[in-house]
Amino acid sequence: MTQTIKKEISDTFTLIRNKMVEDQIVRRGVKDQRVLDAMRRVPRHLFVPPELELYSYDDRPLLIGEDQTISQPYIVAFMTEQLFLTGKERVLEIGTGSGYQTAVLAEIVEEVYTVEIKKVLAKRAQAALDQLAYSNIKSKCSDGYLGYKQHAPFEAIMITAAPKQVPKPLVEQLTIGGRMIVPIGTLFQELVLITRVDADRYNQKPLLPVRFVPMVNQKNRTY
Ligand code: SAH
Repeated sequence: MTQTIKKEISDTFTLIRNKMVEDQIVRRGVKDQRVLDAMRRVPRHLFVPPELELYSYDDRPLLIGEDQTISQPYIVAFMTEQLFLTGKERVLEIGTGSGYQTAVLAEIVEEVYTVEIKKVLAKRAQAALDQLAYSNIKSKCSDGYLGYKQHAPFEAIMITAAPKQVPKPLVEQLTIGGRMIVPIGTLFQELVLITRVDADRYNQKPLLPVRFVPMVNQKNRTY
């Protein structure tokens, strides 16, 4: 492909991406400028399988292999906004998946730590993130239920796979005042915002019904 054609394709994706942000995200009420800017910058089409590239800015989740999905753009924006990020935070993400949400977070905050349990996905996400040369992301492939102890505590934690209950080891890795967003449930799930009030008190606020893949252990059992 010539450089000119490559540039035209990339410019076209930029137009589609800006339209996605207006139609799907601004229109639904997301206002945080940092989040909107990040969503305008991250090339979502680089995080989906090549055969789905043309659908990458659609208003829906897409399959990324291993029975997993990249979340709908609006959900990514909504969850990110709920963390009230100012730019200085160290954020932990559980469920790297495609790496798209990781990139959105990396555009906004100082450091992002991300954990994915499935090797194939962790490798693919790493390749996509390397292409974009982020220098503030640290990834590992392991069971995220246990968090990322070496680097805890975190001002914010985002979980993009659904456990049945709030994972204790993870809330314990929040700073005091830290926020966690997590889908809780099985067939019916609710996106929940948890704030750590002090050493052993947490506030919990239900936000909206959602549908995420389950958070599982190495034997594929749901937590
Ligand atoms: N944030 C992702 C969404 C991926 S779907 C994106 O934007 O693409 C959720 C991911 O969580 C899947 O890749 C799944 O393999 C992973 N996952 C499930 N249980 C996990 C666990 N215990 N630890 C880490 N990752 C887990």
